[in-house]
Amino acid sequence: MRLPKFEHLQPESLEEALELLAEHGEQAKVIAGGTELLVSMKHGLLAPSYLVNLKEIPELNFIAYDGEGGLRIGALTKLATLIGSPVIQESFAVLSRAASLVAAPPLQQMGTLAGNLCLDTRCLYYNQSRFWRQARPRCYKTGGDTCHVVKGGNRCLAAYQGDVAPALIALGASVKIAKKGADRIVPLADLYTGKGERPLALQADEVLVEVQVAAEAARWGGDYQKLRYRGAMDFPLVGVAAVVSRDGLDTIARASLVLTAVSTAPILAEEAGRLLQGQELTDELVAQAAGAAYEVARPVNNIGSNPSYRRKMVRVLTKRAIRNAWVRE
Ligand SMILES: Cc1cc2nc3c(=O)[nH]c(=O)nc-3n(C[C@H](O)[C@H](O)[C@H](O)COP(=O)(O)OP(=O)(O)OC[C@H]3O[C@@H](n4cnc5c(N)ncnc54)[C@H](O)[C@@H]3O)c2cc1C
Ligand code: SF4
Repeated sequence: MRLPKFEHLQPESLEEALELLAEHGEQAKVIAGGTELLVSMKHGLLAPSYLVNLKEIPELNFIAYDGEGGLRIGALTKLATLIGSPVIQESFAVLSRAASLVAAPPLQQMGTLAGNLCLDTRCLYYNQSRFWRQARPRCYKTGGDTCHVVKGGNRCLAAYQGDVAPALIALGASVKIAKKGADRIVPLADLYTGKGERPLALQADEVLVEVQVAAEAARWGGDYQKLRYRGAMDFPLVGVAAVVSRDGLDTIARASLVLTAVSTAPILAEEAGRLLQGQELTDELVAQAAGAAYEVARPVNNIGSNPSYRRKMVRVLTKRAIRNAWVRE
């Protein structure tokens, strides 16, 4: 499979990158590590005329933490750097763990934080070569008017399968997004539209610049649990991030549970968190919270494995994640 033709643009500052994106609009695409984008281009899913490469922009590559301002991570930070960061290992373990379960070490050396957060949604009928896809009519995600997964369905249900977003959403993270002449800070959860066809609330001329986590999150315990075919490599079939904080010795002050790979966007299991809040942790309570997480999971048959099995595994992984997060708090 060959890459389509494109012009490679190499800005040396964020300002220059934003200029280029403003100039080329929908014809341009940002590239960071390229581990997802180039595969999609080879499959003929995307054919941007310009690739705006962020790799030579040092101001996007940093990890900064202070006890008042909290944690800030530049968009271009490699997953391997994030995993190896002592402050993230010690104070934001859920993030370190989720990143360490992305793909495999060679891809963690290339893949970046923003590239991971900005992953496209995936589907067995979409992430295929052009030749493979030609055997079927176009579906909603490729501009057609049908879905091969849900017969008679009226929208695309391609799955969001990023591992890092659930951990960061559970930590209450925000993202800074910039375009020429303006920037905005939004909760990371709001980056995801829930639409399989167009999963990100990001315009063509916008760049995700950094991720921010409040300092208080450094005191919370967290865990990320992942189900995948091959432990050494694959995207999640289910992922569950849990973050908890204590009130005194035995009471849960706050709990946040976020699921991935079971819908078109990461899902905050609000009822599960609410059930745990203000309670002492018991087996019965953990089972109730896991049941509430199960209720909001909506896997369909589009990323491998049986959806009802994946949904059952939400219950299992949620229990494990809550228990581990509590011990680490
Ligand atoms: C075999 C294989 C297995 C994988 N397994 C996993 C897995 O288990 N879990 C997982 O989460 N991922 C997995 N991935 C996906 C991918 O490797 C990682 O998510 C990686 O972190 C993507 O980062 P990148 O820098 O390479 O992104 P790129 O490929 O460079 O970009 C991905 C997308 O993000 C956009 N983008 C990049 N940076 C920015 C920015 N700053 N602002 C706005 N948009 C931006 C790009 O335009 C593109 O649309 C896998 C990939 C492969 C090939
Ligand atoms: S879920 Fe349906 S519409 Fe979406 S990519 Fe898959 S087949 Fe296409």
